[in-house]
Amino acid sequence: MLTPIFLGKVLCAEPGPPSSADNLVVRGTLVCLEKGSDSKEVPCLGERKSMGLRTATGQVYPLNDDKSTSTLLEEKRLRTREFQLTLKKSGASYEIVKSQFFRDGKLYDFYYFCDVCNITTHTPGLCMCCRQETEYHEKLAD
Ligand SMILES: [Zn+2]
Repeated sequence: MLTPIFLGKVLCAEPGPPSSADNLVVRGTLVCLEKGSDSKEVPCLGERKSMGLRTATGQVYPLNDDKSTSTLLEEKRLRTREFQLTLKKSGASYEIVKSQFFRDGKLYDFYYFCDVCNITTHTPGLCMCCRQETEYHEKLAD
């Protein structure tokens, strides 16, 4: 028997401050990786690939296959492949805690905002609370 799942107000709660103890901040270039590999780079074409962030020293941080990661590739308004990501180890790969990007050597924050609920998210789509389309914003990082 299926247990009813209640969606609604509970999703509107502001998330608590993330624990930052074991986060790491990594600057690099977004790359696509061969499925099942955490370091072999392949072109970002065709079927969905695993993704990673390659630093200037060549180290690759494989990223979780989730919406925060695919947004970096799919959000055309970013117009860059250079990112500064705050990452948290999650099994064999990394979860994105915070995404920022570089354009023309400057660091930007980007986010999606619902002005009805005053909610900020880092993935595009409908507001988790009122289901209205959120709006893309970017600004120079502090
Ligand atoms: Zn909303």
